[in-house]
Amino acid sequence: MLGKLLVIGFGPGDEKHITERAREAIQESDMIIGYKTYVDLIKDLITGKQIISTGMTEEVTRAQEAVKQAEQGKKVAVISSGDAGVYGMAGLVYEVLIEKGWKKDAGVEVEVIPGISAINSCAALLGAPIMHDACTISLSDHLTPWELIEKRIEAAAQADFVIAFYNPKSGRRTRQIMEAQKILLKHRSPDTPVGLVKSAYRDSQHVVLTNLKEMLDHEIGMLTTVIIGNSSTFFYDNLMITPRGYQRKYTLTQSVQPLKPHQRLQREAEPWALEQADALKTMKNKEFSIPVKESPREWAEEALNMILGESESFSQMVKQDYPSIFELAVSPGIANKKFTSKQMLILSELVGEDGGMEYTPDHYIKLQILTSEPNEIVEKLVQADFLISPIGDVLTVKACDFCDGEKRDAIPYAEELYEKLGGMELPKELKIGVNGCGMACYGAVKEDIGIVYRKGAFDLFLGAKTAGRSAHPGQMVAEGISPEKIIDVVEQIVQEYKQKAFPNERFYKFFKRIKRIQGFEYQDMTPTIKIEVPVCGE
Ligand code: SAH
Repeated sequence: MLGKLLVIGFGPGDEKHITERAREAIQESDMIIGYKTYVDLIKDLITGKQIISTGMTEEVTRAQEAVKQAEQGKKVAVISSGDAGVYGMAGLVYEVLIEKGWKKDAGVEVEVIPGISAINSCAALLGAPIMHDACTISLSDHLTPWELIEKRIEAAAQADFVIAFYNPKSGRRTRQIMEAQKILLKHRSPDTPVGLVKSAYRDSQHVVLTNLKEMLDHEIGMLTTVIIGNSSTFFYDNLMITPRGYQRKYTLTQSVQPLKPHQRLQREAEPWALEQADALKTMKNKEFSIPVKESPREWAEEALNMILGESESFSQMVKQDYPSIFELAVSPGIANKKFTSKQMLILSELVGEDGGMEYTPDHYIKLQILTSEPNEIVEKLVQADFLISPIGDVLTVKACDFCDGEKRDAIPYAEELYEKLGGMELPKELKIGVNGCGMACYGAVKEDIGIVYRKGAFDLFLGAKTAGRSAHPGQMVAEGISPEKIIDVVEQIVQEYKQKAFPNERFYKFFKRIKRIQGFEYQDMTPTIKIEVPVCGE
């Protein structure tokens, strides 16, 4: 009668994180073989079993003993912390079996029971640091030549993997983690977030958030897992977070603009995707150092060369200066609606063949520029007398041309509004329309907030519904607000909206919901005829 080998990973160390099957398997077995510390951790589960734990520090000897016992008919539980298949006993058990000519169908039965590995348990305590592509590297050079470990650290560092270092340090092995830090610093910023987790889910659990530069100032030992973030990982409220994807779009107000869910799947938001071969091709001769491959085969060959160490372009390729999409809007001025030919030439030069220019209903040209130097772009646009605005959920001021500058009286107010409030981040985009006379031919009353200058004072309109079949103008809430007061009044309204609106709540909906803003009462402006509102795209 052949016995059975149950190779069990029992998770990080507390009972609650042991799987049901691991628990059963321990119950099922006749004997337990494991490192003493591990046996102690699960001692409550194993009363009445034969235990082989002490006197055997060698993992190989333990695996051999387990196989011997199973061949004699015993059900043997071989235990590892975490997952038995991650620097655990599973591989060793199979190696011993294979050496003896074992065959799956005829030999002793083997069941490997998965457990929660340290990379998972430690990540959970830190937040969500391994969200994106990650790897594990053991710094123990007992079973692996240091030269190979070094190569792996180098490759993982270059390729921007999140890295979990297992076995980072022991009493005798203290230099490895220092060498690892040195290699990482060649490729990643000293500020890169690092999480140190000691004894996750055990009594002496200890979590430290630090960075690549300072990580060695903290205690790291045999029971620590070191998690190194990638170039996008950040700390937030004592949590270490790696975003799901790379954010390559940014605008004026934020150096990194999170892509909205629907944007993530759009091609233009993903200039780095493999399929964008054409886009990449045009980047080839620019300052960017991404090597261009015509076909997947070429990529594969390049990858092979990298592994074989023949590629010089590898480190260039992964240097973190990918071009990003810089988005912003330009117009010739608040009152001025005329572009000069020189300005148009500058736009075409900056946007180039890879970027985009889009004419919008808001008197702007929206620019999308592939660049790794957004500040330089801004500088050039400002020098060319463009008015620049961010894009997204921000406040924009949309003024008329004041009859080609003839009716000048209200221009300073429009400019002051733009200077004070333009670009302000809000729950949803918000447009303030400023028109210089009672004709209001630039449609101020059709904006979220409309101001119309008439007889030396301002009329105020709030809550237009600017789009949809049930669109309607804003309601006039005040007439004749004096020029000294108008900026303050508008500012207060915007502040109240900013503070009280729900995320994504348009201004008209907000006004309808709260009924009163800065003392101005809401009246229902919805058309009395019932209009079916179609779903977008119908
Ligand atoms: N099979 C185990 C790994 C064994 S190697 C697993 O899958 O987790 C031993 C290394 O694992 C330790 O040096 C440490 O880096 C890590 N480790 C194991 N348990 C840990 C725990 N509870 N907390 C933090 N790190 C742990």
